[in-house]
Amino acid sequence: MRVARRSTSSTGDGEHLLARRPSSGQTVIMTILDELLDERGVLLIDGAMGTELFARGLSSGNAPELWNVEHPDRVTAVHRDYIAAGSDIVLTNSFGGTGYRLKLHDLQDRTVELNEAAARVARAAADEADRRVIVAGSMGPSGELLVPMGSMTPDACATAFAEQAKGLDAGGADVLWIETMSHLDEVAAAVEGARSVSALPICATLSFDTAGRTMMGVTGTETVTRLAELGVDAVGANCGNNLADTEAAVAEMRAAAPDMVIISKANAGMPEWHGTELHYSGSPEVMAAHAHRLRQAGVRLIGACCGSSPEHLALMRKVLDREVEAPEVEFEVAVKRAVAKPRGRRGRRREGGPAGASF
Ligand SMILES: [Zn+2]
Repeated sequence: MRVARRSTSSTGDGEHLLARRPSSGQTVIMTILDELLDERGVLLIDGAMGTELFARGLSSGNAPELWNVEHPDRVTAVHRDYIAAGSDIVLTNSFGGTGYRLKLHDLQDRTVELNEAAARVARAAADEADRRVIVAGSMGPSGELLVPMGSMTPDACATAFAEQAKGLDAGGADVLWIETMSHLDEVAAAVEGARSVSALPICATLSFDTAGRTMMGVTGTETVTRLAELGVDAVGANCGNNLADTEAAVAEMRAAAPDMVIISKANAGMPEWHGTELHYSGSPEVMAAHAHRLRQAGVRLIGACCGSSPEHLALMRKVLDREVEAPEVEFEVAVKRAVAKPRGRRGRRREGGPAGASF
């Protein structure tokens, strides 16, 4: 058990964030993440958001974040489907919710509002569940490069993530969830920004999509080492190019930091172009077998990213609950390396969605 670094909650939703329980005469503050991990051992995260929104009418080129205010019922419905499938953690519809990303849609002046709405709609779905469900405030990459490679300074980056975190916290998120990152300095700036406005726990995942490293060349070991120094609550991998690389990255993290809570939220198999359409090779059976391997490897927060649906998550839930045996899939299916072609600027990751929307 850890002695928490936080002593107060900055949210109005404190009972979701903190609970106290005595330990050896010391007051230990546990987060909802600690509590549910203690209670359930392994937690199931959710699956892709974007494809579910497209299925409900989102158009290419539109900002998914705008739907948090224009069609909150449809966003809530996606969260509700994942919760019904068994997810213990749902990520808010705010992946592209930094000012930098919203500026692409001329929505940068509504950053706090759209993120607050994202957390509220997820909160609504979580609170109607028959069990406690964690609302994780998704914060994807800014899309900008830090100096000297680009023009974004670390301070400007931190400020952008602070603004987003402020909205997510105000809307009732339980944790802040930095995801699909490539550069550890951007993660560090996001953590700094988040902490400047919020006391919520922080989880962070990078995308190991380039020969087992992130696009910026970062390894799993480097990731967990740096993020442990920053004191984040959980670290891991999401998205990625194939299951094998993600599994290898989280195994590295486990080896380098055995006490860290590790996250895996991989794409449903490998992206393959069928004509102009991007498909994912991972069936629910492939992902359920993957979830089983992850649990055996000691990963405690398990979900799925691009290409996954509530159907995938439902089978992963059954396997994690030992209601059904892990499907026997040829590991070949999971590990065969496939390079998605054409590998466009966004074909690599960022969920294949329009305008870099995450899914
Ligand atoms: Zn993804």
